[in-house]
Formats: sequence, structure tokens, C-alpha cells
Amino acid sequence: MIFETRCAGCDRPGAAICTTCRFALLGQAPRASANDVVAVLAFTGRVRSIVLGLKYRNRRVVGRHLAGLVVNRLVELGLHADLDVVTWAPTSSRRRRERGFDQGELIARTVARQLGLPCRRLLERRPDETGAQTGKRRAERLAGPDFVARPSIGGLRALVVDDVVTTGATLESARRALRARGADAVMIAVAATPERRSADVVPFRRPMRAA
Ligand SMILES: [Zn+2]
Repeated sequence: MIFETRCAGCDRPGAAICTTCRFALLGQAPRASANDVVAVLAFTGRVRSIVLGLKYRNRRVVGRHLAGLVVNRLVELGLHADLDVVTWAPTSSRRRRERGFDQGELIARTVARQLGLPCRRLLERRPDETGAQTGKRRAERLAGPDFVARPSIGGLRALVVDDVVTTGATLESARRALRARGADAVMIAVAATPERRSADVVPFRRPMRAA
């Protein structure tokens, strides 16, 4: 059996991300960032295919590439120096079982390594958030899963990394959990964000200190 590699962006046989798709990623205009969220790419067209490729194929190469873009943006903005630890918002255990990995963790570990920071699992989903959301009311789903943070994070400045932010509810829930345990600042960085968010962005500001 021959395993043929195909590009995560355009499905052409060859590299895991072909040259054309690499350039498409680099050519993206910087995303303006809302409320301590650093987003590198717009989740449309080719970028959407590549980010989805992380979930379905070529995941290590794609994950490394997206992590590199996140790191570059953090360094460009001078934010990498304001961090102590990198973490991620764990996906449901059911999804993790289906995919065999957690894409947020994959990117977070690479980002941490490149920044020379520790990567720690600081967040757990609450027990009732293990998967099926079908029975929940829409408003509850939009509120995102509830996370609990490890108690040993007081005073730390944490970076939460994910592949794509959609409603933002999951990442805001992660931020609340970390703050509740005394994290000094929580920054969120994602590879991609939906285009529609560009309409309501506010200028990036540095992580706010907890009151
Ligand atoms: Zn391609």
C-alpha cells in the first residue's frame, strides 16, 4: 500500500503544505485582535482547508506550521516576553478519542517549545462537559464549556493556544477559569479566526493584570 501525501490546503499530491499554500498563509493580512486575543489568519478559503487539515490529515506538519505563525505574531507584537507558561483548552474526551489527539495541545506544545516556555495542562473540563452537547439548549452551548484550572497557577501569566476561535466562548471560559485560580494575566493566541470578526475588532491591548 502506498501512502501518498497530499497538501492539507489544496489536496495536490506532494508536500504536506505545498508552496502555493504556504505563500497563501504568509500573504494574509494581520488580524486585528479583540480583548487579549491574538489571531494570525482569517478562517476562510485556503486557510480554512489547512486548519481543518490539522484535524484530518498531515497534522504534525500543519500543526508545526500554524504554531510557527502564532509564535511569529507574538514576537512581532513583543508579547512573548510577558508570559510564564503555555496551555490549551482541552477538547472533549470523546473528540480526543475519535481523533487520537487534541489539536489545541499539539499547537500549544510546539508554541511553548519555540518560545522556550513550559507547556502545562492547566485546565480540565468539568465532569458534565465530556462530550454530547446535543441535549443542551442553544444558549447553554453558546456559553461554552466550563473549565476548572489547576490551583497552582497564582501569579502566573498564561498563554492559552488553540487552532481556531469560533464563538470565543470556549476560550473565554478557559480564561475565566485561569483568572479564578489567580493567574496574573491570561492571553489567548489562535492560528485562525472567522472573517466576520474583523468587523467588530478593537485594537490589541496588553494582558490586563487581575484586579
Ligand atoms: Zn496546497
